[in-house]
Amino acid sequence: MPDANWATHDFTVKMLDWSAARGSRLAYSCRRCGRKFCLFSLVSRDAWAIDGKGRPLDSLISTRWLAEQCPRSFSAKDDEDRKQLSVSGTRS
Ligand SMILES: [Zn+2]
Repeated sequence: MPDANWATHDFTVKMLDWSAARGSRLAYSCRRCGRKFCLFSLVSRDAWAIDGKGRPLDSLISTRWLAEQCPRSFSAKDDEDRKQLSVSGTRS
C-alpha cells in the first residue's frame, strides 16, 4: 500500500478486471469520506484517485488525497476535486 495514510481510510474493495502484467485492477471506496482510489495489485504503490464513475482525477488531486489521512466525512470540497478529471484520460 502507498503509505500509512492509506490505512486511515475504511475501504471496501472491488475487483474491476485483471491483466497479466499488473494483476488485478482494484477500486477502493472509503465508507467514511467517500473518496475512491484505483490501483493494480502487482504495482500497488502506484494508486490514483478516481471519481464516482471510475475516471482518474487530475494528478494533483491524486497526490493530495494520497498524502492526506481520511477526513472521516464527506465534504463539498471533495466534490469540487472530483470535477477535475485527468487530462491524460483513462488509466488502464
Ligand atoms: Zn476515507
